[in-house]
Amino acid sequence: MIANPAITINGAGPVGALLALMLAKRGYAIDLFESRPDSRKTNIYQGKSINLALSDRGWKALNAVGIDEEIRQQAIPMYCRVMHDTEGNLTKQHYGNNNQAIWSVSRAGINEQLMTLAEQQNNVSLYFSHRLTQHDFETNTALYVDGKNHVKQHQTDLLFGADGAFSKVRRLMQELPRQRISYSLEYMPQSYIELTIPAGENGEHLMEKNALHIWPRKDFMLIALPNADGSFTCTLFMDHQGENSFSALTEHETVAAFFQQHFADALPLLDNPIEEFLAKAPSPLCLVHVYPWLVNDQVALIGDAAHAMVPFYGQGMNCGFEDCRVLCELLDSFQGDWQQTLMAYQQERKENGDAIIELAKRNFIEMSDFAGDERFLLRKKIEARFHQRYPDLWIPLYSMVTFSPNIPYKTALEIGDIQAKIMDEIMHIENIEQCWQDESVMTTLYDMSRDRIPLIKQEV
Ligand code: FAD
Repeated sequence: MIANPAITINGAGPVGALLALMLAKRGYAIDLFESRPDSRKTNIYQGKSINLALSDRGWKALNAVGIDEEIRQQAIPMYCRVMHDTEGNLTKQHYGNNNQAIWSVSRAGINEQLMTLAEQQNNVSLYFSHRLTQHDFETNTALYVDGKNHVKQHQTDLLFGADGAFSKVRRLMQELPRQRISYSLEYMPQSYIELTIPAGENGEHLMEKNALHIWPRKDFMLIALPNADGSFTCTLFMDHQGENSFSALTEHETVAAFFQQHFADALPLLDNPIEEFLAKAPSPLCLVHVYPWLVNDQVALIGDAAHAMVPFYGQGMNCGFEDCRVLCELLDSFQGDWQQTLMAYQQERKENGDAIIELAKRNFIEMSDFAGDERFLLRKKIEARFHQRYPDLWIPLYSMVTFSPNIPYKTALEIGDIQAKIMDEIMHIENIEQCWQDESVMTTLYDMSRDRIPLIKQEV
């Protein structure tokens, strides 16, 4: 590949926009194509505020281009989970130590901020309403259809597919006869719809603002993240088929009874939940594995296009941002040698992508079922106490994933599995509910962990 390639990024979602910004700051000329119109000029989100949890991996990537503080001004810290039981009782569980928080950001807001910042670089050209339809991998020439149905050819040196879970770049790669691309897309049993809790009369939040609210109901759950305007965006995850499912609940009365039975405390706060439930088409959740991520050292996948996951760890965008940061760090260390950079990027990120896909899939049970379970909460308390005592020996899995950007997802998964086995044994100690604060429990935990868990110097 030539030394200073012209780079095209397909997809100006959060990952494509951040990648454009990072590469432009390194002096590359970037063409960024997006199939949708410019959301800053057209109201394509129609006032809907979908929000996401941004955590330390995301912040580290944003910090690498010096825009973390700008983004933070629009973000709301969530220091804890608040679990709502069916009686309306609340249980609080802090996410980590020292005021550690995950941050609620508007998806459209952060995407638009990133696009604006990318556009301010004079070496970035943004093309909205341009949908990739074909790509010739021999000549690296793409065909785009624009908003007026005109077909345009676009030749590039290096193409990134940052076009999301149903990536067109990836689908075109798969059609190549000699590339032997392994691929799987797995639909989860759950789908989701978004609901809203509007702000109070004076623009205030009607539930605790600095928290992620969960109504865990085992096979389904409702969650709510705060927005800056006083509202909460809620997401109801439930099975697509089956007894309590989107397919089964189709009548006004049964839906009303369902909300009354399971979400009684949320019901008076939600904006038209029954009508919204009946009117909205649930969106599917899927996870994607693909390998390789590269074709001819000229086309590469990034973000959801490479590793779409379910949202139960709040890591999809964070992981995509981490892809961008790692790619650019590799590019710096290989002094602009793209061939070596892309190979190393694929090697490092593929295994970490697989690990977080797995962790995210497992976390549905933790959120929807265990989050309301007393023994589970006790387990978390014991872990938190032990972590305080031995911070380098035991970092809870959630903290490794969410607050420890220097620990690769793959390592977090491996250590988390060892920790789970150890904690299973601890929870079998007789009368653990009564004796969990005894020194002997800490000592047993220490003896069990010392040889089995690699020491990690925590850098937060
Ligand atoms: P996308 O956001 O999908 O962007 C891809 C872009 O490519 C889009 O703008 C699309 O229009 C464009 N495009 C597609 N096809 C073409 C084409 N043919 N030509 C040109 N452009 C094209 N992540 C978190 O980190 N934290 C969370 O709390 C979190 N919560 C989530 C909750 C839900 C319900 C869901 C569904 C996801 C959640 N995620 C979360 C995941 C997060 O939304 C994604 O990981 C993130 O949006 C991926 O960014 P991306 O830029 O790779 O892809």
